[in-house]
Amino acid sequence: MEKFEQIVPQPKSRFLRVKCLDCGTEQIIFGCASTIVRCLVCDKVLTQPRGSKAKIKTQIISVLT
Ligand SMILES: [Zn+2]
Repeated sequence: MEKFEQIVPQPKSRFLRVKCLDCGTEQIIFGCASTIVRCLVCDKVLTQPRGSKAKIKTQIISVLT
């Protein structure tokens, strides 16, 4: 019996394409992130964990399903 590692932990999880309000950098973040996500360029906080969802603190451009 072979074991396969699952890369995607939750099928309902969504990824969001967001744009940093400070420097305009676009990046893709995990919609249910349980940790603070910061902008890769200017270190601005983009999401903060709140309960089981992440509170998005920046502009959402699109939702990747
Ligand atoms: Zn930024």
